Amino acid sequence: MPQGKIMKALSGFYYVSDGEKLIQCRSRGVFRKHKITPLVGDNVEYQAENEKEGYILEIFERKNELIRPPIANIDLAILVFSAVEPEFSPALLDRFLVLIEAHDITPIICISKIDLLNDEEEKKHIDQYVENYRKIGYDVFLISSKKPETVHALFPVLKNKISVVAGQSGVGKSSLLNCLKPDLKLKTSHISPHLGRGKHTTRHVELIEIAGGLVADTPGFSSLEFINIEATELSQYFPEMRELSPNCKFRGCTHIKEPKCAVKMALEGGKIPDFRYEHYLHFFEEIKDRKPRY
Ligand code: GDP
Ligand code: ZN
Repeated sequence: MPQGKIMKALSGFYYVSDGEKLIQCRSRGVFRKHKITPLVGDNVEYQAENEKEGYILEIFERKNELIRPPIANIDLAILVFSAVEPEFSPALLDRFLVLIEAHDITPIICISKIDLLNDEEEKKHIDQYVENYRKIGYDVFLISSKKPETVHALFPVLKNKISVVAGQSGVGKSSLLNCLKPDLKLKTSHISPHLGRGKHTTRHVELIEIAGGLVADTPGFSSLEFINIEATELSQYFPEMRELSPNCKFRGCTHIKEPKCAVKMALEGGKIPDFRYEHYLHFFEEIKDRKPRY
């Protein structure tokens, strides 16, 4: 039986790429029994009825999946955070980083609208964060949709990967996608308090080919709450803490009050940025205060 990847979902049809063309497929009822619906990004086995149509027979095991946008097997999350307008928010960036790490997706940080940084002090402020995130091991790109070459620097990163673009409203996600693929023509917008979140809802998700990779045309991210994360595992999603925890005296050290904690020592020695540790404490408390769900 032939195999392929679902590139697009629309009105009950799944468009499976066989590497050359798209086959319009329906899913057979078998998945419903297992409470599994095909997702864009799924690798599937299908039966072709003719050149253009077929049925999905099997969905291969997923590496991960998101609810918004509904996509499976994501390799990269391109996190767009503007340098200004809206103001750069490391607290929100760290929240996204934790959620993405927890989904087993590799984050790529893009700081957008750098053309709007004209003040030396503002530039320095951003540069300090860039340096810190790079030291942790994250890839950081400084981009501006006004300077396409800064965005095109992402091409080699996207190659052979499935990527989603995420970040707050108004940071330039649509502008970034348009810059990567000009014929996409996504609507960009000023933030409208009236439209709120509504404007993101109805589009159907599709993977588009960019520079030898696949990128979801719908920006988003499922939820910004730490719903499936336990406080005791939180430090696993801070790479700079994760690598030190084996050196802590106690197994399962939360790096808060325990003696002989390698993370606290690194913090005191300036090897872990203060702001990262502060966000860690903040998220830890947030998870601990979480009300049990019924
Ligand atoms: P989204 O909500 O994240 O998709 O953001 P949009 O792409 O719709 O952009 C929001 C606003 O920021 C629009 O008015 C864009 O023209 C503007 N914008 C986006 N990227 C840049 C950039 O790199 N530089 C400047 N100066 N403005 C930008
Ligand atoms: Zn510790």
